[in-house]
Amino acid sequence: MSKTTKAVAKKQVKTKASTKKGTAKKSISTSYVYAFGKKTDGNATMRDLLGGKGANLAEMASIGLPVPPGFTISTEVCGYYYDNGKTYPASLSKSVLKAIKQIETQLGKSFGGRSNPLLVSVRSGARDSMPGMMDTILNLGLNDVTVEGLAEISGNPRFAWDCYRRFIQMYGDVVMGVQARSEEEEDPFHEILEKMKRKLKVETDSDLSTENLKALVDQYKALIRKRTRSAFPQDVFEQLWGATSAVFSSWRNERAILYRQQYAIPAEWGTAVNIQAMVFGNAGDDSATGVAFTRDPANGEKVFYGEYLINAQGEDVVAGVRTPNAIAKLADELPQSYRDLEKVRNKLEKHFKDMQDFEFTIEGGRLFILQTRNGKRTGLAAVRIAVEMQRERLMSQETALLKIPAESIDSLLVPVFDPKALKAAPIIGKGLPAGPGAATGRIAFTAATAEAETRKGNKVVLCRNETSPDDLKGMLHSQGILTSRGGVSSHAALVARQLGKVCICGASEVVINYEKKTLTAGKVVLKEGDYISIDGSTGLIYKGMIESADSEVKRVLEGGLKANKSYTYELFQTVMSWADKHRTLNVRTNADTPAMAKQAVAFGAEGIGLCRTEHMFFDGERIDIMRQMILAADEVQRRSALKKLLPFQKKDFVGLFKAMEGRPVTIRLLDPPLHEFLPHDDVVRRQLAEKLGVPFDFVIDRIKALHEENPMLGCRGCRLGIIYPEITEMQARALFEAAAQVSKGKKAIKIKAEIMIPLVGFRAELADQLAIVHRVAAEVMKKHKVKIDYLVGTMIEVPRAAITADEIAHEADFFSFGTNDLTQTTLGLSRDDMGLFYDQYQSKEIYNQNPFASLDQTGVGKLVELAVERGRQTKPNIKLGICGEHAGDPMSIDFCHRTGLNYVSCSPPRVPIARLAAAQARLRNK
Ligand code: PEP
Ligand code: MG
Repeated sequence: MSKTTKAVAKKQVKTKASTKKGTAKKSISTSYVYAFGKKTDGNATMRDLLGGKGANLAEMASIGLPVPPGFTISTEVCGYYYDNGKTYPASLSKSVLKAIKQIETQLGKSFGGRSNPLLVSVRSGARDSMPGMMDTILNLGLNDVTVEGLAEISGNPRFAWDCYRRFIQMYGDVVMGVQARSEEEEDPFHEILEKMKRKLKVETDSDLSTENLKALVDQYKALIRKRTRSAFPQDVFEQLWGATSAVFSSWRNERAILYRQQYAIPAEWGTAVNIQAMVFGNAGDDSATGVAFTRDPANGEKVFYGEYLINAQGEDVVAGVRTPNAIAKLADELPQSYRDLEKVRNKLEKHFKDMQDFEFTIEGGRLFILQTRNGKRTGLAAVRIAVEMQRERLMSQETALLKIPAESIDSLLVPVFDPKALKAAPIIGKGLPAGPGAATGRIAFTAATAEAETRKGNKVVLCRNETSPDDLKGMLHSQGILTSRGGVSSHAALVARQLGKVCICGASEVVINYEKKTLTAGKVVLKEGDYISIDGSTGLIYKGMIESADSEVKRVLEGGLKANKSYTYELFQTVMSWADKHRTLNVRTNADTPAMAKQAVAFGAEGIGLCRTEHMFFDGERIDIMRQMILAADEVQRRSALKKLLPFQKKDFVGLFKAMEGRPVTIRLLDPPLHEFLPHDDVVRRQLAEKLGVPFDFVIDRIKALHEENPMLGCRGCRLGIIYPEITEMQARALFEAAAQVSKGKKAIKIKAEIMIPLVGFRAELADQLAIVHRVAAEVMKKHKVKIDYLVGTMIEVPRAAITADEIAHEADFFSFGTNDLTQTTLGLSRDDMGLFYDQYQSKEIYNQNPFASLDQTGVGKLVELAVERGRQTKPNIKLGICGEHAGDPMSIDFCHRTGLNYVSCSPPRVPIARLAAAQARLRNK
């Protein structure tokens, strides 16, 4: 104890010194420690301070669920820890001592005492759960003395030594850093254990005797000494602070950072640390530990779902080392405990009003709940659970909508295996279906290979015996994940579910040999790089590549399947109709072809927000005419080429107007630098010269003349139409001619055309282009004796346009925020070249997210707000939309709603996500 007191005192001195120097950045509450148990300080609403785990432990304790007592060190301490050179607030150690005393009194045990020793777990717990990303230490409080006490009081020395060897292993790994040194190396503790099992010719850990375990403890300690040159600590408070610091430090480990980026969790949130009295699932055959879900997290079905292991501790289940039993089997093995568990299942779901994922331990027939959280689920399950819970009146329609991560709608739309191809494919094995969907790819046995292969453009399926948090990056790169060990709550299953990855786990007949780089299933031996296919909905594993087919929802939407034949479609439709009822933002699409437009309309698009006309010039002979136009030496030549382009352009517009059936269609005039259309290699350039009947040198000279050092900031956008007005004229003519054509006749369509000018920064630029548009419109309407309903507007995609939006609004009927370019120009960051430094920026958490994927609300967002405000000052009813990539990103959509835009316009597949995100934005900001 005295050593600890010194250690704590030292920390306090350091803390005081740093506070004096004024290095403490944030002022934080005076309470750092919140108890739960007989006396409970917190509740479920205090997630920010206590983290999800701490808040829910407090909540469960207060509704009378059997929670072992403990306390939570708040997330504020995490902030303090990092802001103050990894030290703690001065008063923390006193509060921790007091909280430990409370547990001791409640349980009649003593921390570090020989008779009846108190053991605790030390676990992380962020505001949003980050399963498996941070560290955990169990059985803390054991040393050479207390292990004897535990052996005596439990009357079960084997159990006590089993706990001790587990503790040394975890502490050695997590706190002292004794780990595998490469991906190919086994965990060194695991290796010692396996060696002993092989030597003794026993199958499982539970076959080891007390003496074996004692020997294991010695070997583990020796390993730690050898690797770290220090001894495993015997002082229980030193252990406690060591573990606490390790957990706080794990907030910034590589995988936690990666996870936060994936889920946009801010680094400032920090983690809490939960210290809780241990209960023992490894105390004999009437003890068990498990993980349960109140519904199936893979497909959302309302069944009790989960798994357990008799005579084991929690990490055995999650690490996937032993394949656990399905929860239903517990009804036979420990019937009373199963009944108790069923009651808890119902109580948890009714109380928390969401599907719960909870951990339990049965110690000598007595049930304890160690954690509950809203269960991570696949996209499909998220939708099904929300819809069914609403139907069961467990949640309102609004809550149900908010419970579905908007992106999850996508998992109802992703391709499945083509049924015909599937029939013909050879099945080589079966595992547990843990993440639905279809994945085909080359076998990768390590996360590093998975990453390397995908960077080469190959699709991979990551195949491992079991995954660990270090595999996260590899999992992110893979189409699917297959493991030979571990159950449906193993790390692989948990993470795959959350990432929306296809996953099969615990395929026990599959043998993976990392050294030989083979996967053997029965008689089939596959090598790394061979193709494998996995169906995460059925658990079936296939040799080779399998073609994919459209999802049920898509087939219904396109008329290939009857709506009443698909429950998935019913779910999709229900959620979409709820979303449409609640959202105020309109959802349009970015589409350049009638096929894209039709798909988007089937997904619910209410108009086209951006048709990039340049995309219409790449096909067939158009590209040659386009090149002729670009290479033209003078206006006469240019006009002659444009004349040939006009009928193509008109035909495309007719197609678009027809596909959109009277919905608004925004057509943007030519935007990109012209040289983008020109060939880059001399062979094609020569062919082009021949086709156009001009000398090769002429082509080369024109290409040179058009060269720009910085084309993104060069002759593009409205600048093109300003220097070559005949281009704008041709496009406007094609558009109005098309509009005139479809607005007449038997199948006349009422046209709502919106002509949009790109890259405007000055009012005069817009005025220049609009004069042409209006003149052509008048000419065409007069010629065809029709009235065409059209608006003119501009993109706001350079900062000057946003800043002078009040001036520009005089000319424009609408603004559409081109946040791709607005991000590029505001951040001074090329859209195409961030690869060189992006990884570094990510790992340093300079960007919470890729600013081209999710709007930089604090920077670019300010310009959008400014433009909205100034635009409306001039024209209160000006129509406002967004057509950059951000328009399909839920967080950016929330911003658009708050900023008062009228619509978002995203790519067709993202339309359903945008509809849901728009409804959520409204509900969140009511
Ligand atoms: C934009 O800049 O956001 C935009 C939609 O235009 P583009 O991506 O075509 O430059
Ligand atoms: Mg742009």
